[in-house]
Amino acid sequence: MTHTQTHYDVIVIGAGPAGYTAALRCAQLGLKTACIDNWLDKNGKSGLGGFFLNAGCLASIALLESAKLYHALVHDAKKHGISVQAISLDMPQMIQRKDDIIETLRLQLAEAFDYHKIDRYPARGKLLNNRQVEATPVDDSKLPIILDADNIILATSSTPVKLACAPIDNEFIIDSVAALHLNIIPKKLAIIGAGVVGLELASIWSRLGAETILLDAQESFLSLLDEQLAAEAYQIYRTQGLDIRMGSRVTSAKKDHKKVTINYQDREGTHTLRVDKLIVASGRTPNTGNLAAPEADLLLDENGYVHVNENCRTNLPGVYAIGDLSLLGPMLAHKGIEEGVFVAEQIAGIHNPIDYDVLPSVIYTDPEIAWVGQTEQALRAMGESIKVSSFSLKTNARAQAIGKNEGLVKIIAHADTDTLLGVHIIGTHASELVAEAVLAMEFSASSEDLARTIHAHPTLSEALHEAALGLKNRSLYSLFSQ
Ligand SMILES: Cc1cc2nc3c(=O)[nH]c(=O)nc-3n(C[C@H](O)[C@H](O)[C@H](O)COP(=O)(O)OP(=O)(O)OC[C@H]3O[C@@H](n4cnc5c(N)ncnc54)[C@H](O)[C@@H]3O)c2cc1C
Repeated sequence: MTHTQTHYDVIVIGAGPAGYTAALRCAQLGLKTACIDNWLDKNGKSGLGGFFLNAGCLASIALLESAKLYHALVHDAKKHGISVQAISLDMPQMIQRKDDIIETLRLQLAEAFDYHKIDRYPARGKLLNNRQVEATPVDDSKLPIILDADNIILATSSTPVKLACAPIDNEFIIDSVAALHLNIIPKKLAIIGAGVVGLELASIWSRLGAETILLDAQESFLSLLDEQLAAEAYQIYRTQGLDIRMGSRVTSAKKDHKKVTINYQDREGTHTLRVDKLIVASGRTPNTGNLAAPEADLLLDENGYVHVNENCRTNLPGVYAIGDLSLLGPMLAHKGIEEGVFVAEQIAGIHNPIDYDVLPSVIYTDPEIAWVGQTEQALRAMGESIKVSSFSLKTNARAQAIGKNEGLVKIIAHADTDTLLGVHIIGTHASELVAEAVLAMEFSASSEDLARTIHAHPTLSEALHEAALGLKNRSLYSLFSQ
């Protein structure tokens, strides 16, 4: 049984970065706003933040930081003249630290919601027709309610793809959510999927000592990257000990005497692997199953993504879709955030479109990979006349001083106009370094602008400066960086 309740200016379904940003900006603009979200943590507690905060990017970064510290103590402390004895791992404490960070951020978000008087519904939202939404509380003892609004923003994101050949039991064959809660380090770990999520999880568990094998059916490694960066990344990860097996298609995986037996095929034939845990990280799929009632007539594409125009508008008047739900831009937290602001402002009558061409992408492995703009191969395929320069972090003084000198910065500019067309970075703090490139490209800067900008010394950002100077054969250190 349901009954009609409050009317809102805006209802947001989903409280990940896309949804919570949309709700906050709507409320800030004076719109009466509600947000419906069905996230429940491992203890059955509801909370804001979505996959991103609770079991995605942020959770992964928090755990990676602990893993990097442990690895540095074990492998690098001696080089610093520091002798550390009897280092041991307390995994439950490490997981607790990550959970405490998540909880703090969740509380901060909840405070921001309260401050902006956003009504929260811990419920599963379903779009009905006539701009109505059914909210079924996560607490089963409560009855569904019907809310209505002038505008509805769908932000229910994506979920991990399930593979029939590797059924998840979350004990031995686990998904990317459970992979961030493991209390014991697997001696031998396999991951299906050597993409962004698989590599981030591999970075964590291999840093903690797990022998890590990545199996991926694709032949080319990180095909979304500039090829030079992908090759550099492959080299670095292999040197770190990651066993990356491209062109390897898993045909079956099953629990077998407290281990997992995996069968896979590559060009050489069929192979069997026995591991302690298997993580399935083979991509994400839009969370549109049961999001809209059939009579709502929400238009999806053949892969289940919500069909939107360049303004994130769906086929239904007053209904928008943002974040991982649509194929407008990559599946990244900050693209969802920007779309949240964009849609909230449209509803309030402000039009500030997003420039998807200067949207940075980041892979939070160790070292990080970050880029903005086009790859060299894409530009060459388009017949663009370009010039390219790359600078290795090996000769960057700051990178040397901190002992993190693996990686490079690559800059691509138009051969005639000198306008920056792409900046690609692999190395420590790449996610921070790319911000300078994004700003430069946002202002349509030339490589000369970057070359003439004074960079503090010694900093990692000098690598961008040197790469820009390199386009004019003026790099002072490139001779040593080959
Ligand atoms: C392990 C991992 C690593 C990642 N690393 C990166 C990275 O390095 N860089 C990066 O930018 N991105 C990364 N991502 C992706 C990033 O987390 C997503 O792009 C981001 O979370 C998408 O944000 P969102 O707001 O669309 O949705 P989400 O954060 O997924 O939130 C969606 C929310 O909607 C709720 N919901 C779903 N259906 C309903 C419903 N019917 N009713 C009510 N609520 C519903 C969900 O419970 C959830 O709370 C990573 C993801 C994973 C899993």
